[in-house]
Amino acid sequence: MTPPAQDSALNELAHSPASWQPTLTFLRYAIVTILTGATLYGAIILIFLPDQPTRAIGPGLIAMVALLSAYLLRQGRSHEAILLLAGGIWLAMMVASVVFGGVRSTIYYAYPLVIFVLGWMVSSRAAIVAAVLTSVLTIVLVIADAADWLFAEPGGPLALYAFVQIVVYILTAAMVTYLVRAYRRQLEELRQTELKFRTAFASSPVAASIATLAEGRLIDVNDNFERDFGWSKRELLSRTAMDVGLWLEARHRTEWAETLIRHGRALNYETVWRHRNGNLRNVSLSSEIIQLNGVSCILAYATDVTERKAAEQQIHRLAFYDPLTGLPNRRLLMDRLGHAMVACIRHRHLSALLFLDLDNFKALNDTHGHDKGDLLLQQVGARLVSCVREDDTVSRLGGDEFVVMLEGLSGNTEDAAAQAETVARKIMAALNQSYDIQPLRVHSSPSVGITLFGAEHENPEEPIKRADLAMYQAKGAGRNTSRFFDPRMQAMMHERSELERDLRLALQRRELVLYYQLQVQRSGRVTGVEALLRWPHAQRGLVPPGTFIPLAEETGLIVPLGVEVLEQACRQLALWSQRPEMAHLTVSVNVSPRQFQREEFVAEVLAVLQRTGASAQRLKLEITESLLIDHVDDVITKMEVLKAQGVGFALDDFGTGYSSLSYLKRLPLDQLKIDQGFVRDLLIDPDDAAIARMVIVLGQSLGLEVLAEGVETLEQQQVLQFQGCQAYQGYLYSRPLPLAQFEELAQQPGWPFVQPAA
Ligand code: C2E
Ligand code: MG
Ligand code: MG
Repeated sequence: MTPPAQDSALNELAHSPASWQPTLTFLRYAIVTILTGATLYGAIILIFLPDQPTRAIGPGLIAMVALLSAYLLRQGRSHEAILLLAGGIWLAMMVASVVFGGVRSTIYYAYPLVIFVLGWMVSSRAAIVAAVLTSVLTIVLVIADAADWLFAEPGGPLALYAFVQIVVYILTAAMVTYLVRAYRRQLEELRQTELKFRTAFASSPVAASIATLAEGRLIDVNDNFERDFGWSKRELLSRTAMDVGLWLEARHRTEWAETLIRHGRALNYETVWRHRNGNLRNVSLSSEIIQLNGVSCILAYATDVTERKAAEQQIHRLAFYDPLTGLPNRRLLMDRLGHAMVACIRHRHLSALLFLDLDNFKALNDTHGHDKGDLLLQQVGARLVSCVREDDTVSRLGGDEFVVMLEGLSGNTEDAAAQAETVARKIMAALNQSYDIQPLRVHSSPSVGITLFGAEHENPEEPIKRADLAMYQAKGAGRNTSRFFDPRMQAMMHERSELERDLRLALQRRELVLYYQLQVQRSGRVTGVEALLRWPHAQRGLVPPGTFIPLAEETGLIVPLGVEVLEQACRQLALWSQRPEMAHLTVSVNVSPRQFQREEFVAEVLAVLQRTGASAQRLKLEITESLLIDHVDDVITKMEVLKAQGVGFALDDFGTGYSSLSYLKRLPLDQLKIDQGFVRDLLIDPDDAAIARMVIVLGQSLGLEVLAEGVETLEQQQVLQFQGCQAYQGYLYSRPLPLAQFEELAQQPGWPFVQPAA
């Protein structure tokens, strides 16, 4: 059971002083000592007392006994060697004491020592037998002495000698018996503990290791360790688990050790160990601190649970994922839906559910077979995943039903609905592409039901039911379309799509027009105008940009729309350059982030300038802070290219966004426009006044002109002027005017100076 002594550090521990035990070495030393002592004693007697050679008989006998014992020991008969040594000395002493004075001989006092050695080295029974025998002989010797049968010289209280001797023998035998018993008991306990874990250790189906607590050195591992983790016992001994890189996560090791030290044990601790070949293995560790011959050690059973883990994951996959598409199944969807709902309520945003059903799936399945149907479902799943963000969930409920959950939408119902609608369209477009199902190319379309959730707590089944109902409405509306569950939302989305259709038409028919609003210096001189877009709509009247610009941005219509605005503005610039009263005017054109971020933007602007013949020096582009949220370097590069051609830049609605002053310095700007929100309450709200003041100071320090927009009253203008503002735009001077009206204004006396309206 115990491993070979040589290669086990455990054995080394067992021989430490803490666990002293009789050994053959001890016996060997005893024999040599006795032999040397007896020989020297005998020699001294023969040399110095040549007239009493009989006195050398004792040491001579003892030396012979010792020699004989040494011989037996060499033969490997250690037990007999001990018996012979003790018994021989006992006999030799008996002979010597009979010759030299019986019970009164000085040598007689060595008997307790012999009894002790016998007890300790042979058995307590041997000690008792020796004690009894010696006592009996002592009594015989006393009688013999009294009868004068001995050579001993008389003298002294004989009976008292004998009594004392016998008491000492009995005491010695009792003491050695007690000591041996206690020692055996201790040894037995130790042996039992060792036996217990040895049995478990060696026969355990798993690798285990033992490490000394203080140093973390491994002192033994069983053979299974090599099988499971590739490290042989020899390679591991005296190294630490860290030395061999066993633990994948040092953090886990610390945590495990802390638990172990705190509680004395750590059960079923799951972690990952590295096999010698680099493979990762999941292990479950059960460890406890044990005392091994007085030293604190860790005994750890490591069960390789890699296969079990894999099976668990497999079970998890089967339980929560659809085997055909690999998408989450209904159960996982419900779980995530519950979490999403809580998150929505906490963060005050909304989420959406899109319920999809393929329109002609049954027909395809019936005509081409289930395997083709399966292929189609897999491709649909993949396309759905590609349409949404990573955080969103695409799940398959079964059959041809899919549910997409969009999380983290706007907290505003209309905006969230628009976001969901945008994704729905993207999905419809993606699923309407034909499918390559060898050898067929098939076409399929979905009907999509949409609902929002997250405004309140409800049963997760509810939004699914709503989206399902809405999907049926989409089917009823002719398939290959989407429907909102909420009729108001549906109406809203309907209106949106009508607006989009109309905007497209208006763009094609070039119905969009520019209005112009004056930009006035503090002297009252008009130096420029801002071009503001208007959409004259047959039913809706003049539609303001706030209504259709966001829609144009979402649908991508902003691109042709932006080009149209630039084109009109530049054409106007070119025309005005021919007219002395207008030639000095700059035209500011608003550029939306989506438009600016396009790679072609710079080329487009330059092309328009070229085409219209407008002077780049008179064109000013208004960008907003939202453009500066990401890719600032790209923005700066584009600005610099245009700037080099003479185009100017204004930062619109300044103070509302996230501008970091650090990159404001790097932008090649000409003008900061204080947002009208701060101007509106300038006279009432001290915070707004402070912000306006700050923008003015900032502009001055950066060498930029500061223009206040939305200036409606003379008081506002005066406060701003007092604060150092250089230019103004607002109803105080003029509303945005259609071209004809604006040109009329320029014919007024006093132009290019204007008076504020009273
Ligand atoms: P913006 O660039 O900040 O334009 C200023 C807005 O303030 C304009 O609204 C203007 O009519 C309004 N306004 C001017 N003076 C006053 C005033 O004294 N009081 C008040 N209450 N309002 C004043 P509008 O024309 O409705 O334009 C709204 C926004 O639409 C613009 O804000 C701009 O961001 C955007 N926009 C307008 N035209 C275009 C365009 O051609 N392209 C792009 N991308 N966006 C445009
Ligand atoms: Mg503007
Ligand atoms: Mg503005």
